[in-house]
Amino acid sequence: MKLDRILKEIKKDQLIQLTQDLIRIPSVRRSGQGEQKVALYLSRLLEGMGLEVVVEYVEPDSPNVIAVLQGESEGPCLMFECHTDVVTEGDPSEWKYGPFDGRLVGNRIYGRGACDTKGNLAAAVMAIQAINQSGIPFKGKILLGILVDEEGMMSGVKHFIRQGWANGIQAAMICEPVDNQLCITQKGALRAEIKTSGKMSHGAMPLAGLNPIPPMISILEKMKQLEEEEIERLGKNDFLGYPSITPTVLQAPVKGEPQLNVVPYQCRALLDIRTIPGQSHEALKKQLEDIVQEEERSVNASLHSGPLKEIRETLEKGLSKGISFQSMLDVFEDRPWTKTPQEERIVRCVSKAMRSITGKDPVYGGVLGATDGTFLSAWAGIPIVTLGAGKRMIPHQKDEWVSVEDLELTSKIYAASALEFLNVEI
Ligand SMILES: [Zn+2]
Repeated sequence: MKLDRILKEIKKDQLIQLTQDLIRIPSVRRSGQGEQKVALYLSRLLEGMGLEVVVEYVEPDSPNVIAVLQGESEGPCLMFECHTDVVTEGDPSEWKYGPFDGRLVGNRIYGRGACDTKGNLAAAVMAIQAINQSGIPFKGKILLGILVDEEGMMSGVKHFIRQGWANGIQAAMICEPVDNQLCITQKGALRAEIKTSGKMSHGAMPLAGLNPIPPMISILEKMKQLEEEEIERLGKNDFLGYPSITPTVLQAPVKGEPQLNVVPYQCRALLDIRTIPGQSHEALKKQLEDIVQEEERSVNASLHSGPLKEIRETLEKGLSKGISFQSMLDVFEDRPWTKTPQEERIVRCVSKAMRSITGKDPVYGGVLGATDGTFLSAWAGIPIVTLGAGKRMIPHQKDEWVSVEDLELTSKIYAASALEFLNVEI
């Protein structure tokens, strides 16, 4: 059986070694060249395996690596997508083992990136190597995209798409830690800033100025209501749970020191908004914008009418003249949710591959954060699935680890999925 021949080529010790080697090249995205070192290490390795490799700089010191294993003739192209960066290790003394030691303890490999996503990257490389070494002919090609900055603004995948690499890819496997579930949907995300501006004044004479804090509170309360309405309207998504609108930063004054007896000029809030299938980002942005604009209108109307106007004019003797209130919303990042139908070919192929390896039906799931797959799906229309080893709750924490057995299983699923997708009878 062809599948057995290929699975035999996936060597556990090599998989462990490659995972350790990758962890030992720290690639937190900060000043330094960590991502570049990982990228160049992999490009040499993949070239050595006989793949066509392109190293493409997204920014200085940050290159994407694109490696292609060509089949013997034309056919579909399947992408495996991984990233080179890892999130910060935090305080290294908090870790049981050094975050970049890549320590193998029992059945676990420890270190930053062990599961997110250097272990899964190693599993993908090993799967492709196994297909290559087995000599089993196939049509089409496998493209391995090892991209930068997934944990940040995802500049790697955006560059990859802008450079035209996504054209001609029929489906993508996003290699991320999701407990080896077959994930077919992902939450969307909007990142936004709200600013309210009034006029600075003495705390003892607040009407001489205009406090931007109460209108901000009113805006955030209305957004909380909007969140509740959306939860009510959509209910709970089987894989993703509920949508959310979460203020994560609230700051006043925006510049300079805060002081108890000074009314600040400006207040600022950051919103982390997560969406689920069924929500339109355009409609949601419009609703948020309406809340902010409505607050501006109503605060300004109250300034120039009713009792406040009189109090200001008489008590503060014109100090408050010309006051006006402004509020603005800036949505500076938009990452749509994704949903790949279960009937989509890539989902069927991975599902079949998992059944041939484990003897069981896959467990379907969803990804709560955005990934590079978000843009492959939203910008390039590529059907995606996300699958990889590693407990969902471990990434971004201290003592990150991955199980060697899970990683081996992941590598086998990757290899079998590729064969299914490339129409090899397994
Ligand atoms: Zn990741």
